[in-house]
Amino acid sequence: MKVLIVGAGIAGPTLAYWLVRSGHAPTLVERAPGLRRGGYLIDFWGVGFEVAERMGIATQLLHSGYRAREGRQQRRDGSRLFSFNPESIFGPGARYVSLARSDLAAVICGALEDRVETVFGDTVRTLEDDGAHVRVNFESGAVRDFDLVVGADGLHSQVRHLVFGAGERFEKYLGFKIAAFDLEGYRPREELVTKLYTEVGYQVTTFPMRDDAMMFALTFLDDGKEIPQTREQQEALLHTRFANAGWEVPSILEQLPRAESIYMDRVSQIRMPSWTCGRVALLGDAAACTSLLSGQGSALAMVEAYVLAAELARAKNHVEAFDAYERRLMPFLRAKQKAAERLALAFAPRNRIQLCLRNAVMRAMALPLVARLAAGKSFHDAIELPPAPSQ
Ligand SMILES: Cc1cc2nc3c(=O)[nH]c(=O)nc-3n(C[C@H](O)[C@H](O)[C@H](O)COP(=O)(O)OP(=O)(O)OC[C@H]3O[C@@H](n4cnc5c(N)ncnc54)[C@H](O)[C@@H]3O)c2cc1C
Repeated sequence: MKVLIVGAGIAGPTLAYWLVRSGHAPTLVERAPGLRRGGYLIDFWGVGFEVAERMGIATQLLHSGYRAREGRQQRRDGSRLFSFNPESIFGPGARYVSLARSDLAAVICGALEDRVETVFGDTVRTLEDDGAHVRVNFESGAVRDFDLVVGADGLHSQVRHLVFGAGERFEKYLGFKIAAFDLEGYRPREELVTKLYTEVGYQVTTFPMRDDAMMFALTFLDDGKEIPQTREQQEALLHTRFANAGWEVPSILEQLPRAESIYMDRVSQIRMPSWTCGRVALLGDAAACTSLLSGQGSALAMVEAYVLAAELARAKNHVEAFDAYERRLMPFLRAKQKAAERLALAFAPRNRIQLCLRNAVMRAMALPLVARLAAGKSFHDAIELPPAPSQ
């Protein structure tokens, strides 16, 4: 089948990989002019790691990423509130790694080895599903027919908008925003130490990366849903929200203009009653964004791509495959979303009680036994992967 995949992030290229393996002809279309670099750091673990192993890219991911040796909670005055060992949560030999989202995307795209037609700098303008094909009008003016179209175009999916309706219907805004950026040569710097500074209303996380870069992730409560569009507006919002912050925050804000770009977005989930409609399906954040709170969106996006390809490989037709894809994954993703929502107070506590509760839980997680007990419950993915799709 000819399958158009919209979005070359994490889910899209993973689906392309498995579709090629099962004899289909996918085309990837990506709005950006090329693969994105930089961006934020993600933790990669769980059943998604198993998908990466089946793709033969796990070793490369471990090589591209980092394993923090310490997580350190900072006080306002710069002293240490408590520390924890991330390995006590995931386990010493566990299959997990922290890496730049763009590095994960690059490794997955590398696994395609030029076997997939990839169009950068274009997107879909209209989709007409006549029951036998989907006619696609591209922004570039091209018109092409495909057997299936899959929207893997992220939280603000255009495919979802075109086929399922306006974004607000399915987006659950969780009440806070995220800003992520990196700075070269930032000091102080301690290798492989994740630092967290949390107050009522916000959290700042830093992690030292290769090439003398420091990654910053700022989460903050914000009732307004609008995302500032210009760099000036982004910086102004951060200065307002972090005006009274202590620790290294004044210095971080002062150096903001040095950041090459700032990623800023709402922290939202996508909740839909169905991810498919006729010959169109949604995948990854476009279908069921769990948000950064789950710490697992990328891994889940890969699982969804793998399962969709596996169901397309073994079903008689796409209707059966889409049905099986939803049945297998919807309850699992709903549970992930609910669990993630409960973690909101860890990223931006709403009051002092939540802040104290968060710190007490994090401190308890510093004890290996507690961490192992909690990890066993929270870090287990209750799903079994189907056999790998093949021709
Ligand atoms: C700050 C932050 C921290 C996170 N931390 C973690 C973590 O620790 N662990 C984890 O697993 N996940 C984490 N996530 C979530 C993770 O990044 C996402 O769940 C994952 O990237 C989803 O993959 P995707 O392919 O569905 O979408 P994306 O990665 O967003 O990719 C979508 C792609 O579609 C393209 N696109 C968008 N619109 C169009 C269009 N109209 N036409 C064509 N192309 C288009 C985009 O340019 C992009 O390349 C985090 C997210 C954020 C924001």
